Amino acid sequence: MNGLVVVTAWRLFICRACGLVYDEAKGDADSGLAPGTRFDDIPDDWACPLCGVTKADFEPYDRTEVARSTAAPRRSTGPRHDAGIVIVGAGRAGWQMSQALRERDADVPITLVTACDAAVYDKPLLSVAFAKGLALPSLVKEPAEHAAQRLNVRLLARTQAVSVSTRARTLRTTRGSLRYRHLVLAHGAAPRELAALPAALCWRINHRDAYVRFRSALGEPAPSVEPPNDAFATSTHRVLIVGAGLVGCELANDLALAGHPVTLLDVNALPLAALLSEAQSRDLLAAWAGLPLQFVGGVSVDSVTRHGRTLTVRTTDGQAFDAEHIVAATGLHTPSRLALSAGLAWDNGIAVDAQTLRTGVATIHALGDCISIDGQAHRFIEPIARQARVVAGNVLGGPELHYARIPTPVRVKTGSRPFTV
Ligand SMILES: Cc1cc2nc3c(=O)[nH]c(=O)nc-3n(C[C@H](O)[C@H](O)[C@H](O)COP(=O)(O)OP(=O)(O)OC[C@H]3O[C@@H](n4cnc5c(N)ncnc54)[C@H](O)[C@@H]3O)c2cc1C
Repeated sequence: MNGLVVVTAWRLFICRACGLVYDEAKGDADSGLAPGTRFDDIPDDWACPLCGVTKADFEPYDRTEVARSTAAPRRSTGPRHDAGIVIVGAGRAGWQMSQALRERDADVPITLVTACDAAVYDKPLLSVAFAKGLALPSLVKEPAEHAAQRLNVRLLARTQAVSVSTRARTLRTTRGSLRYRHLVLAHGAAPRELAALPAALCWRINHRDAYVRFRSALGEPAPSVEPPNDAFATSTHRVLIVGAGLVGCELANDLALAGHPVTLLDVNALPLAALLSEAQSRDLLAAWAGLPLQFVGGVSVDSVTRHGRTLTVRTTDGQAFDAEHIVAATGLHTPSRLALSAGLAWDNGIAVDAQTLRTGVATIHALGDCISIDGQAHRFIEPIARQARVVAGNVLGGPELHYARIPTPVRVKTGSRPFTV
């Protein structure tokens, strides 16, 4: 054994809430954990860098085990005419729903209908991608076809769900109608449209598609193009962001770290006014002092106009700001069309039962960003996996499962001064 050092293999740990994998070999630069930091050596108050839950919410992760347990596509042995479960939306909620159903039932037919390309990705990374050095192709965690095969899901990507007939138990889509035994709505929320911020002049970043187009407009090649070695050596562009909530602040921080001069406007006097204390907001402003980031509080946008490549934002108090790109980060709302076509109760989102996550129609459940519980939408990552397990249990039968509403930790990923609130 002379001088021989025995190094046990690096282990992986997965966050039960959001699926982030901690790799001991890589550590986590954001939390100051150097490569080679053993999970056991991480302090107990460490928070998941993606969703903010604690170290206790992580468990050992074995990629080969997961692949083995869900890899081979199985032929359905269920009743031949079972229309199965149709899920609308392939964001985190839709994929978690598919996973939770498959874990309980190897055979139930699952159809996933989604407007996007269905690639599996972590949305919270969109607002920290520059800081993490993520080129556009690396945002995709798993290609859609691979995930669909792994979970034995029939995938209809780039397909809009249009309306629901509860009487016939059919979902009408842009590719025809689908029968369902149970329907699960996981279609998320959409950015608010404000007349003062016309869609033709403003970016709205709530999905990977829009983010990829935005980064391409900043000069980065689209993912299909082989990235050059200096993928981040794009020229700088002035960006104006309207809305200093979670997404607006994180994007502003990230773009400024990448060298783009950013102006951040908000109606409140301080950034993140709804989430942080005044002292924390001031801390954040102090951390931004060294970045090309100007925060202007207490203003409301009146209009946006274009002159050549320059966009001018005018505020109601008469100020004017020029930029090449405007990002509207003014919040989300749930589109109501599908729910109303099914006659579902509506209360600031699809109203679901607080415990079972069932809508007023017994065969329709909902989860994720599109739901409201007691009139409140709660649009965060952490609850989604728990919601999916409850819905899967209740849809597939057996003892009724109940969803527990617990306070969700929120990680404010402003790299210059992160917070967990
Ligand atoms: C930049 C950014 C950063 C964030 N950071 C954090 C964070 O740090 N922590 C945190 O907890 N949360 C964060 N969030 C919020 C979190 O990402 C969301 O709560 C979560 O991803 C919502 O997942 P979802 O599946 O419900 O909705 P979505 O991801 O919006 O998925 C909805 C899906 O439905 C599809 N769809 C929509 N309408 C239709 C239709 N009519 N027919 C068919 N398909 C349809 C869409 O194509 C999409 O696939 C962040 C959000 C953003 C935008």
